[in-house]
Amino acid sequence: MSLAAPSEASLAFADIRAAVGKLCAQFPGAYWRELDRSSDYPSAFVAALTQAGFLAALIPEDYGGAGLPLKAAAAILEEIQRAGCNGAACHAQMYIMGAILRHGNDLQKQHYLPQIASGALRLQAFAVTEPTSGTDTTALKTFAEKKGDHYVVNGQKVWTSRAAHSDLMLLLARTTPKEHVAKRTDGLSVFIVDMREAKDAGLTIKPIRTMINHATTEIFFDNVRVPAENLIGEEGKGFRYILSGMNAERILIAAECVGDAKWFIEKATAYAKERVVFGRPIGQNQGIQFPLAKSYAAMRAAELMVHEAARLYDAEQACGAEANMAKMLAADASWEAANACLQTHGGFGFAEEYDVERKFRETRLYQVAPISTNLVLSYLAEHILGLPRSY
Ligand SMILES: Cc1cc2nc3c(=O)[nH]c(=O)nc-3n(C[C@H](O)[C@H](O)[C@H](O)COP(=O)(O)OP(=O)(O)OC[C@H]3O[C@@H](n4cnc5c(N)ncnc54)[C@H](O)[C@@H]3O)c2cc1C
Repeated sequence: MSLAAPSEASLAFADIRAAVGKLCAQFPGAYWRELDRSSDYPSAFVAALTQAGFLAALIPEDYGGAGLPLKAAAAILEEIQRAGCNGAACHAQMYIMGAILRHGNDLQKQHYLPQIASGALRLQAFAVTEPTSGTDTTALKTFAEKKGDHYVVNGQKVWTSRAAHSDLMLLLARTTPKEHVAKRTDGLSVFIVDMREAKDAGLTIKPIRTMINHATTEIFFDNVRVPAENLIGEEGKGFRYILSGMNAERILIAAECVGDAKWFIEKATAYAKERVVFGRPIGQNQGIQFPLAKSYAAMRAAELMVHEAARLYDAEQACGAEANMAKMLAADASWEAANACLQTHGGFGFAEEYDVERKFRETRLYQVAPISTNLVLSYLAEHILGLPRSY
């Protein structure tokens, strides 16, 4: 079943959408349910996406990728979620490489990008958040000290997702203590850490069990040596490199939320038509119809903002506000749709076999990560409305 009156945005890249839909059909609810129970990683699903080239969408053709715009990557992730699958298992493989592409040197690009494009190297661990700094990124404490031709890293990260299923990690660490820099955002640097080597030499990965199957971890660095040639761009300028990648991340995750919202609305609408109580379909009651209609409107509005943010991004124009708004509106739309879908299903919404409770748990994440709703609102208040900074 498809939603009526598809928008222009959801019609774009029709071939890609159809191909993603076909691939996802091989990974039905039962596949995800089983993994959810055992907290296992969807290796077969990720391998299929890699083999089909979808995770290399944003890598330029010169480096073996598809050279597609962000809009196309957004369409891929939206369709994955819409099909009931979970792109969070591998979405970062699409965009983390942007740090190398935009800020790496030629040697790094030639070495890493073709291997990431083919899937020979997995770069899908992005280590920014720390237990004591949280959202206040510049307060992070993990330190990389330069010693000759390498750096020595000590510290701890938390919520580093997919680290156990990645060969490389993009690490944000301090290289100059906060007290010795003019601006808090200075003195942070970005590194590629080869976890295959580091795991036997001071790097420990510990899985964190959560309410969703997300393969997230905490990571401990105990004198981990990282070759100096693995520094991306200039030492001390890492924060701005990370920020430039965050717009892409927010837009792509917003697209996933739009896909989730569509899945919930389609699922709920189908159920509301067939479930008969008091001698009539429950969907005949306005109390069932209105929450679904409302979440449909919210999803369509969010979809337009995702489309606009991606358009600006692809045109290399400033898109910080739009990326943030897309992320917040889409996460709100998917959460509203999740709630309406669960309510429409009544008690059956709680039963595993309907997949509603699993997707409900999964989409709740996007109220918090990769940036929480409060921080998006603070950004808009300060940078768009010109109100005083609140923190
Ligand atoms: C499953 C999962 C996967 C994740 N994956 C990754 C990953 O791969 N890599 C990575 O680096 N991080 C990852 N994260 C971390 C995620 O980005 C953070 O959880 C998120 O940014 C919030 O930070 P925090 O948890 O430290 O919350 P805190 O910063 O402690 O905030 C807690 C609450 O207080 C609110 N708050 C804080 N400051 C303010 C303020 N000034 N004004 C108003 N409200 C405020 C926040 O909005 C939030 O609701 C992941 C998190 C989860 C749960």
